[in-house]
Amino acid sequence: MKDTWTQEDIIAALKKVADDTVAQAERLRELDAAIGDGDLGITVTLGFEALKEALAELANADVGTILMRSGMAFNRKAASTFGALFATMMMRAARVGKGKEKVGLAEVREMFAVAVEGVKERGKADVGDKTLLDALMPAAEAVAAAAEEGAALPEALARAADAAEAGAKATVEMKSRAGRSSWFADRTAGIQDPGATAVAIMLRSVAEYARSSG
Ligand SMILES: [Mg+2]
Repeated sequence: MKDTWTQEDIIAALKKVADDTVAQAERLRELDAAIGDGDLGITVTLGFEALKEALAELANADVGTILMRSGMAFNRKAASTFGALFATMMMRAARVGKGKEKVGLAEVREMFAVAVEGVKERGKADVGDKTLLDALMPAAEAVAAAAEEGAALPEALARAADAAEAGAKATVEMKSRAGRSSWFADRTAGIQDPGATAVAIMLRSVAEYARSSG
């Protein structure tokens, strides 16, 4: 298992995230249809297809460029709330990876932290509002805690995935306080937030890549 990721690792991990999330598109569509407009299934399908196309041309790019271009490609093809927030996360993380050929846990920790800040600003939401932040924030905290303990990168990413899944599950009890679904907040209780679910799926995929690579 590797403690640093090269450009090749970033590209391979993003491809795995794309495939694993698209494989769950129907589940995401159902959750989004229950509390929103039901477009998340098609959003992840189109968006990740575009992301994979973008990756094909980024083999020699630095980490920052890979994250920025693939995030932008997703939202260009699948413009939506989720697309905008995904692109925001990727573009913020891209700043940390700018000009770098490889990244380790210190950079990954910083990427999570700036992604959280970006989503808070762009989504005008905070933890507890039943958004993807409820999965992303605990994941970022888990990565930071793992880094403080001197954990290896795969272990930190495994903890991030666990925290994101727990965070997504916790949204079942919440009522929407941000975005369109907040207009009928009471109807949202009892349903796991689709955006938080998507983030949990994506981070599990990243953790699996980390465990299996190298
Ligand atoms: Mg939707």
